[in-house]
Amino acid sequence: MSLIILREDRPVEFCPSLSVDSLMAYIDYKTLDRGTPIVILSENCSDPQRVGPVTDFFTKRQITASGTWDNPGTCNQLLSAISNLHDANGHTGPYSEPCSRCIEKYRQGRVDACQFHTGRILYRTGSPRECRKLKNRYTRLTQVDLADYEPDGASPLLPHELIRVRDALLSRNSLASFQLWVMILFHIQLFLRSSEGCSAEFNQVVFSLTAVNPETGDVQAICIKN
Ligand SMILES: [Zn+2]
Repeated sequence: MSLIILREDRPVEFCPSLSVDSLMAYIDYKTLDRGTPIVILSENCSDPQRVGPVTDFFTKRQITASGTWDNPGTCNQLLSAISNLHDANGHTGPYSEPCSRCIEKYRQGRVDACQFHTGRILYRTGSPRECRKLKNRYTRLTQVDLADYEPDGASPLLPHELIRVRDALLSRNSLASFQLWVMILFHIQLFLRSSEGCSAEFNQVVFSLTAVNPETGDVQAICIKN
C-alpha cells in the first residue's frame, strides 16, 4: 500500500500517498555507507507499525545500504518528482497517516471524523515531501551524509534533450550507439550518475527481480546486484 501511487495503474481517486517512512528508508538505502543496515527508528517514523529493520520482501533478509548516491542533487530530483506526483493526484494538503480513531468511526457507520480532525482521515494523504521529518532528513543528507560532495558542473538531462539524444543515437544504426542508449536508460531508471553506474556489468542484472511489459516493452522494474 505504501508504494501504490508509483504505479501507472494507480487508482484515479482515493490513491494513498507514498509512505514517508518508505521514502526515508529509500534515501538511507541510497546514501548511507555501503553495508549499513537499514532501520526505521521510532523517533523518526510516522507510522509506529513500521519501526524496525527494513527487510527484503522476497528473501526476508535485512536490507543494507548500497551507498550509490554521492550527490545530494540526485535526492533532490527524486523529491521533486515525488512532490509533482502527489500534486497531480490531489495530495496537496499536509501529510498524514490514516487515523485509527477515524477508521473505527467509519466501521461503526458514522460519517463524522474523530475529535482531532475537521475531516476524517481514512487513508494516507498529503505529500511526504511536505513532512517535517523528511525535510529534516534531507538537511542531514546535505550536512552530514553527503557533506563532502563537490559538484563537478554536471546538470540533469531534460525530457526534450533526452528525446534528441535518443533520435541521434538510434538513427546511427550502430550497435555501439544502441548500447549507449541502453546505458542511458539504465542510469535514468536507477537514478545513477555516470560514476555510479558505468561500472555495472550484465551479469549483475537480477532477472528474477526485473520485469518487462511484454506488450509495450517498458521496463517496470530492474534490479542490479552491488
Ligand atoms: Zn481521526
